[in-house]
Amino acid sequence: MNASVLPGEQPAASLSGKELAATIRAQCAADAAELSASATPPRLVVVVATDDGSSVSYVRSIAKAAEKADIRCDIVDLGADAPEQLIADTLTALSDDDTVHGIILQTPLPAGLELQRLAAAIDPAKDVDGANPASLGFLAAGQPAFAPATAEAVIALLDHHGVEVAGKHTVVVGRSTVVGIPLSHLLLARNATVTVCHSRTPVLATHTTRGDVVVVAVGRPGLVTAEDVANGAVVVDVGTNVTDSGKLVGDVDADKVALKAGALTPVPGGVGPVTTALLLRHTITAAQATRVRVAG
Ligand code: NAP
Repeated sequence: MNASVLPGEQPAASLSGKELAATIRAQCAADAAELSASATPPRLVVVVATDDGSSVSYVRSIAKAAEKADIRCDIVDLGADAPEQLIADTLTALSDDDTVHGIILQTPLPAGLELQRLAAAIDPAKDVDGANPASLGFLAAGQPAFAPATAEAVIALLDHHGVEVAGKHTVVVGRSTVVGIPLSHLLLARNATVTVCHSRTPVLATHTTRGDVVVVAVGRPGLVTAEDVANGAVVVDVGTNVTDSGKLVGDVDADKVALKAGALTPVPGGVGPVTTALLLRHTITAAQATRVRVAG
C-alpha cells in the first residue's frame, strides 16, 4: 500500500489487480510453453449448464485469457436444463481424462441442483476453482488443496500491495463456500484474527468498523458505506453487480468509502482479473503435478 496515503486526507489508495493479473498470466504463458514442450500441454475445461448472460460472458473471458497464455480451454455446454446425472457423468469423465488438468463447473446451475454436491465429482487434483467440498476440507485442515480462485485472489492482491494481515483484525462479510468461508481459512492461515459476518448479523457496522481489513463478498450494491468502515481501513470489494444502466459495481459505496478508507479495490479491475489469472495458475500447477507424477 502507498504509505503516504493518510486516512481522511486524500482518497484511498486504489488496490488495482490489473498489474498482478498481468504478471501471473505472463508467468503462466512461460510455464505453459515449457509444459507443451515436454508433451504435457495444459488443458482447462469449463462445464456450463446455464444461459445466464453474465455467466456466459465470464466463461468467455476465462477462455480468452487461457488462449492468450497458450492454455487450451474447452467449454462444454450441457444446456440450461441439463439433468444432474449428465453433469455428474461429464465431471467424472473429465476427471478420468489424462489430457485434462483443470475442471471448472460454472454457476449458476439448473434450478434445484447444488454446486457442492455436483462438484464432489471433480478430482481434487483438477479442482482448480476449489469447488469440491473435499478441497474446502483440505484447506480448513491446512493441507494442500486448490482454494477457490476468488478467495485466493483477495490474499494475492493484499500481498501484492504490501498489506500485512498477520495480527490484524480482518472482517469478512459473506460466508459462501466460494468466497467468505475459504477466505476466512486463508486469513487464519496468515495469522489474522477473523470475524465473519452474514445475513443474520444484526448490525454489520458493529464489526466492520473494527476491521483493519474489511472484505465484502455479498452481491448487494452499496451495502457497505463510509459509516461502516474505520478511518484508514483497507477495504476489498469482491462484489460484482450489474446496475440497471449496465454498469458493473461492487458491494461498497466506493465514492464515499474512498474518502475514509486507507485503500480500496476498484470494481472492475480489482479482485476480478486476479481471480481469472489464478484459475490459469492453478491449471498450470495441476499440469506440472501430472508431469511430476508421470516422470516419477
Ligand atoms: P452468495 O453465495 O450469494 O453469498 C452471499 C453471502 O452474503 C452469504 O453468505 C449471505 O449470508 C451474505 N449476505 C447476504 N446479505 C447480507 C447482508 N445484508 N449483510 C451481510 N451479509 C449478507 O454470493 P457469492 O458467490 O459469495 O458472491 C458474492 C459476491 O461476490 C457476488 O457479487 C458475486 O458476483 C461476487 N463474486 C465475484 C467474484 C470475482 O471474481 N470478482 C467471484 C465470485 C463472486 P447468508 O449465508 O446468511 O445467506
